[in-house]
Amino acid sequence: MPRLFFVGGNWKCNGTVKSNEELVKLLNDADVPGTDVVEVVVAPAAVHIPQVQASLRKDFSVAAQNCWVKKGGAFTGELSAEMLVDLGLSWVVLGHSERRHVIGEADDFTADKVAYALSQGLGVIYCIGEKLEEREAGNTMSVNARQLKALADKISDWSKIVIAYEPVWAIGTGKAQEVHDEVRKWLADNVSKEVADATRIIYGGSVTAKNCGELATCPDIDGFLVGGASLKPEFVDIIKSAR
Ligand code: PGA
Repeated sequence: MPRLFFVGGNWKCNGTVKSNEELVKLLNDADVPGTDVVEVVVAPAAVHIPQVQASLRKDFSVAAQNCWVKKGGAFTGELSAEMLVDLGLSWVVLGHSERRHVIGEADDFTADKVAYALSQGLGVIYCIGEKLEEREAGNTMSVNARQLKALADKISDWSKIVIAYEPVWAIGTGKAQEVHDEVRKWLADNVSKEVADATRIIYGGSVTAKNCGELATCPDIDGFLVGGASLKPEFVDIIKSAR
């Protein structure tokens, strides 16, 4: 089954009104393949979402970088899935390694967030990936399987999930395709062959204009989640690597 190439730009905790204007202009002026070839989604900081939504070309979508685990209410500082839906967003990034490891969000909590976001109609870019020390201990797939299982235990509909595999160490080693292949096999064995065939597994970890071309040719790499380079003109080249 063909999987539509997916390029996400994760702007993280960066940007000003002015720098966003410039970045949106760059994206709006870019000559990139159509939506039949590549789906482009950018995730600005929450406070900048309405600005970017109002000014960004309509063939690109806007995502949030996070949302709360259940219905909104007395949760100071959080933003709810309902708010994102109300703004007209269709995507949220969940389980980013910075949320898992810097902020300390656990597998279960992350999976609950995904289940709740799906229940509200959002699509989820679900990030997984092992840390360098886990990789060095030979635990690459056991960590990824654990993060996938946490989700598989809580959801049954995978049609709005994009899996983003994000290990910084794997760039340029040929290992990225290997792990993507294993993640797809895990889905086939533990969810279903249909879900394994249909789910986009995108790669994140220092993707640049230089390395995206080769990565994009790997059969199990269905796109990218780009951090640093998504703030620069080279993001356009990364979009153009869609196959
Ligand atoms: P990077 O970030 O491209 O700057 O490595 C990717 C991510 O963390 O989503």
